[in-house]
Amino acid sequence: MSSAPAIREADYCIVGAGFAGLTAALRLTQAGHSVWVLEARDRIGGKVRTEYLDDGTPVDMGGTFLGPTQERIYALLDELGLCVTPTPIDGDSLLVYNKEVHRYGHAMPDLDSSQLAGVWETLQALSKMSIEVSNQAPWSSARAKEWDAMTLAQFIDDPSRALSEPARAMLRTLFIGLFTCEMSEISLLFVLFQIAAAGNDIELQMRVEGGAEQDMVKGGMSCVTQRMQEKIGDCIIFSSPVSMIEQDDNSATVYTQKAVVKTRRVIVAVPPALADNIEYTPALPATKMELLRHMPAGRCIKFVTAYDRPFWRNEGLSGEVIAPDEFIQMTLDTSAPDKGSGLLMSFSFAREAMLMAQMTAEERKETVLDALEKRFGREARTPIRYFEHDWSEDRWTRGCHVAHQAPGVITSYGHAIREPFGRIYWATSETSPLWNGNIDGAVRAGEYVAEQVLALDREPAAKNL
Ligand SMILES: Cc1cc2nc3c(=O)[nH]c(=O)nc-3n(C[C@H](O)[C@H](O)[C@H](O)COP(=O)(O)OP(=O)(O)OC[C@H]3O[C@@H](n4cnc5c(N)ncnc54)[C@H](O)[C@@H]3O)c2cc1C
Repeated sequence: MSSAPAIREADYCIVGAGFAGLTAALRLTQAGHSVWVLEARDRIGGKVRTEYLDDGTPVDMGGTFLGPTQERIYALLDELGLCVTPTPIDGDSLLVYNKEVHRYGHAMPDLDSSQLAGVWETLQALSKMSIEVSNQAPWSSARAKEWDAMTLAQFIDDPSRALSEPARAMLRTLFIGLFTCEMSEISLLFVLFQIAAAGNDIELQMRVEGGAEQDMVKGGMSCVTQRMQEKIGDCIIFSSPVSMIEQDDNSATVYTQKAVVKTRRVIVAVPPALADNIEYTPALPATKMELLRHMPAGRCIKFVTAYDRPFWRNEGLSGEVIAPDEFIQMTLDTSAPDKGSGLLMSFSFAREAMLMAQMTAEERKETVLDALEKRFGREARTPIRYFEHDWSEDRWTRGCHVAHQAPGVITSYGHAIREPFGRIYWATSETSPLWNGNIDGAVRAGEYVAEQVLALDREPAAKNL
């Protein structure tokens, strides 16, 4: 017989202990408030999870990289006494296309410039268009309706662009690397908003040096969430998926099987598709409910192969690979500089990730090792450790890296993204106007929502509202 749930009370209750929920908890406890955090899993971090080799080398299986203009995550690292290390990138990179491996020694692949003609011009055109899109309120932009009526695929396939098949394949790979779904699934306005949220330069989102993959956290990304947990103290209740949130004029009550939390305000810090699984009493406004229902996340499987040394560097290779027509579409070197071992991080995205999910575990591993052997030679076949994580099949994530929006969603329901509902507030990376979908965006979302509720509760008359 299961025992009755414990009744707890706190000023604030946070649902979800990912980066956004933990940041909100940190800022609220620092402001002197009591907090309970209810987390579905038996661990903190959400889409961030670090595994370790036997010698302690960190292996990040979720969010990993940080880069310029992601100021809030760098500030948080400083505050927590942590530092970054540059992502290794010295050497030549590889482009695999049509079963052939092409080596290139500069920032962007050059299959044969005539075949890739139009790729960088298309990216630049998108960056330029994004300047017309408000990152705070993309639905209010002058051309919002026009751009939200078409998919990214329709924009790319416009005959005036006259892109070759390899150029189109390259663009698809770059976009599925960012959004993990097909170009035909996302609205052009959504893409322009994402670029606007990252400083109007899509190449910044894609680059290693000087871009969003420039740095990794020394010791692994889980060091950050662990330090936050130490600071907020013993206020996280694990293995406690929230099933219902009730509110009335005086308070809110959050229900799990283990605990029931009575609170002044609730911060829902879970991805939109999972927030939609929670029952709300009274029911959410229709616009908010529709928005949550129309924000699925894409498909991505992440693989890490560990070797006793980064052997590819002996051949002058950086470890970076882009492979538009393969199951494993991207590889990067993520070896820790202070350890002897070598780490190759590889991804399968979108349609290919779905196909790989249908393979047996052995077939999947063979597919990964075949691809790595073709790229780096025989030694790549024999890693000392092999890791994989399918984030789409993970019950408490249900896809990654970020929820996306099909045509019509932003202009119909987008304005509800951060709108509180009574005592309920929203904070995930998807709610951030800057670096939306990234760790920095999640930190910003947590800080923003903490400021929002603190400002309200600083007004004595509003204390009970
Ligand atoms: C493979 C992968 C690679 C990535 N790479 C990068 C990268 O290199 N750089 C970068 O900046 N970002 C990257 N990201 C994205 C980044 O990890 C996320 O944007 C960020 O971690 C999201 O944090 P969050 O707090 O918004 O959400 P989440 O991390 O999803 O946290 C939500 C939490 O809510 C919990 N939860 C869900 N439902 C319930 C419920 N009903 N009750 C209680 N708890 C619940 C979950 O268990 C989870 O802990 C990557 C993501 C993935 C998956």
